Amino acid sequence: MHQAADGGLARVRVPGGTLTNAQLRTLAEASADLGDGGLELTSRANIQIRALAEGAEIDLAVRLREAGLLPSQTHERVRNIIASPLGDDQHLVEAIDRALCARPELAELPGRFLITVDDGRGDVSGLGGDVGLHGNALLLGGCDTGLRVSDPVDAVIKAALEFQAIRGDAWRLAEVPQGIERITAALGTPGAERIQVGPVSARPIGRIGDVTVAAVPLGRLSEEQARRLCDLVPWIRLTPWRSVVLPAVDTDIALITDPDSPWHGVTACAGRPGCAKSLADVRADAAAWVGTRKDRIPVHWSGCARRCGKPAGKVVEMIATGDGYRRSE
Ligand code: SF4
Repeated sequence: MHQAADGGLARVRVPGGTLTNAQLRTLAEASADLGDGGLELTSRANIQIRALAEGAEIDLAVRLREAGLLPSQTHERVRNIIASPLGDDQHLVEAIDRALCARPELAELPGRFLITVDDGRGDVSGLGGDVGLHGNALLLGGCDTGLRVSDPVDAVIKAALEFQAIRGDAWRLAEVPQGIERITAALGTPGAERIQVGPVSARPIGRIGDVTVAAVPLGRLSEEQARRLCDLVPWIRLTPWRSVVLPAVDTDIALITDPDSPWHGVTACAGRPGCAKSLADVRADAAAWVGTRKDRIPVHWSGCARRCGKPAGKVVEMIATGDGYRRSE
């Protein structure tokens, strides 16, 4: 739990973004009982609960553990695994998560370490994970190494161990001199033609095949919305774009399934009153601005120059200055 201006802030890792409705209910009830009632979706497809009172972390941890959301006390910070939200790799994500938690030395990975599991459609490889799978291609620092793997779990864990061995004080692989080359050499001989990993661009919403992707306005599910979702669907999957994948349903709970909605692609950091650094109530300002929005280019609103939660890919930024906002493209 971190301390924020509005109280304790707990980030709950959700590898692969998939929650059963029982787990979602646990989170919703925990936030209602211990926090401010809402659930924040993060750019790593995790959940945040805020405004927790001092000492609430103990009650929260008990609830999360019983729901299977806190399987490892030692490795919690490093269970950062994002998978293709429309893919079917949750079993692989869970195997990587178990293997990660089974290696004591990997508890020392930095909390920013990121694993991506892209099923080949190219939606999360562009997030620049430290270690990634793109089909059977092994990526390091978001780039294809030319290595192809038959045991993806083993390959990811070996790459993570190599990173931990050489990282020094670095938080991300990109910060390690020759880091990609050194780990690639330790793992094998690249032979395959390299895949060009593009930047993340698409943020699909609406009915897609047998699922519905619904954007969550400003990335925050209210207590009521979370509870309704629990009643509506057996599971949800969080995406890095602050949307949720649902078994195909017609939602009537103020989630966004129309790609032309002015809310689609609008994100904001916590801002005031949650963050002491914020120069504005960015969420209220973003909400007031939405009705005047002319185009559909993704926009991220920040309360200060740290620009927390800025989504990957092309995005216009509105950064609070104290007497308005500076627009940055
Ligand atoms: S961008 Fe600034 S104001 Fe917003 S959450 Fe981060 S530190 Fe706080």
